[in-house]
Amino acid sequence: AKEIHLVDYPTGKPTPEIYEVVEAPVREPGDGEILMRVVFMSVDPYMRGRMNPHVKSYIPPFQKGEALDGGAVGQVIKSNSEKFATGDYVVGYNGGWREYYTGPTDGFNKVDPSLAPLSAYLGVLGMPGFTAWAGMSQILEPKEGDVLFVSGAAGAVGSMVGQLGKLKGCKVIGSAGSTEKCDWLTGELGFDVALNYKDYANSTELTKGLSQAAGKGGVNCYFENVGGMHLEAAINCIAFGGRIALCGMISNYNDTKPEPGPYNLTNLIGRGVKMQGFIVSNFMLLARDFYAEVGPMLAGGKIHFRETVYEGLEKAPEAFNGLFEGANTGKAVVRVAPD
Ligand code: NDP
Repeated sequence: AKEIHLVDYPTGKPTPEIYEVVEAPVREPGDGEILMRVVFMSVDPYMRGRMNPHVKSYIPPFQKGEALDGGAVGQVIKSNSEKFATGDYVVGYNGGWREYYTGPTDGFNKVDPSLAPLSAYLGVLGMPGFTAWAGMSQILEPKEGDVLFVSGAAGAVGSMVGQLGKLKGCKVIGSAGSTEKCDWLTGELGFDVALNYKDYANSTELTKGLSQAAGKGGVNCYFENVGGMHLEAAINCIAFGGRIALCGMISNYNDTKPEPGPYNLTNLIGRGVKMQGFIVSNFMLLARDFYAEVGPMLAGGKIHFRETVYEGLEKAPEAFNGLFEGANTGKAVVRVAPD
């Protein structure tokens, strides 16, 4: 069966040459293991961090000459685990970048394909949706009437953040990289304002746009997905007692030298702002609360989502690069096989 190997570590934006599609034998599951037929695999920005071999991180780097890995949803076709039966549909943090996954069941959960399309368990009901929910409920704690700003707003995490904000009674401002994305935010998703950041040359300009959108009181909550001029503009506009959740800084992930940090951090002191970084796995124990709250919202039509689907395992590198090019609206997934 096919799997995609990492041939070389990238410098800057990944190029097609760093990948190789390899035909490898499918291993039989050992004790406690499953064999899963992968239906969808996820591409996520954090995978770029795993392509940096020398950076110490919360997750080890990918190894050259081995298959890449990541989130996947599929069907168990052989099980030596008490957790799952043959035929079960499951989602896990492993199993991506290949047609079949053989391995342990840690981090895998059973999913119900009749409740939502399988791909949703990689997006709105999966890791990105949970990330949005955790950053909002555990760090930003928005209150009714708060002004919430989210960057990367038309992506998997950002689109969920804004909608959760609206449900909490916030004024929601999002930024994204195209008119179509901004129209989706203010249309179907109900954001109050959408800023196309490509219309702003630098953080000073973006600050003007954001400040106007936020109004006199400024931004109470900023959900950071992008970094760079977005963070600077958000800190310029942050309200007294504001909160900033540092979720990601995708604009820097392909940098070959570090970008200088925001010049305006002193605002955080005088304005008594809390700024906190987080990794979704910090909140794993709350996964049930996430499903209990967001499942009914989705079923009740209160949450909308979009997906950008790439067809075929070979498209995974293109799908991954698309994250850095703004090619996806909502969650980017790769269909590896039919349901
Ligand atoms: P998205 O679905 O948002 O896809 C990435 C988007 O980022 C692109 O579509 C693009 O949208 C935008 N983008 C790319 N490059 C730039 C740039 N230079 N400037 C501004 N925007 C850019 O991905 P996710 O929702 O999966 O992830 C969003 C963020 O959340 C990432 O930073 C990611 O690392 C982080 N994350 C963090 C987690 C955690 O546990 N802390 C877990 C999951 C995600 P556009 O067209 O608008 O430019």
